[in-house]
Amino acid sequence: MFCYNCGKEIGEHTIICNNCGAKIKKSYNLLSLVGFICSFILVIPGLVCSIIGFLEIQKTNEKGKGLALAGIIISSFLISVLIVLLIIYLVNLSNTPGYPTYPNYYY
Ligand SMILES: [Zn+2]
Repeated sequence: MFCYNCGKEIGEHTIICNNCGAKIKKSYNLLSLVGFICSFILVIPGLVCSIIGFLEIQKTNEKGKGLALAGIIISSFLISVLIVLLIIYLVNLSNTPGYPTYPNYYY
């Protein structure tokens, strides 16, 4: 692996870079974890957290890149499913002949 700070090659178990003294973080990125979990429940915050987490990992070299990617993929998949369902619902609503138009129950 390489130091995220100076780019010099360092050992896999290095904690502090021999060249520049930067701390090599090997902990999980919190946002990628949060994003991954949220992507199942709160889709849009999950996507946002995963993207921010992914970008942070690019800089800090933390663990959790796979988690962040999974969070991005799962949440964007769920968002597209939701959009497709919404479109199908709206198309059906307007195409059904003789379908009574509802008054606005929800504002
Ligand atoms: Zn370094």
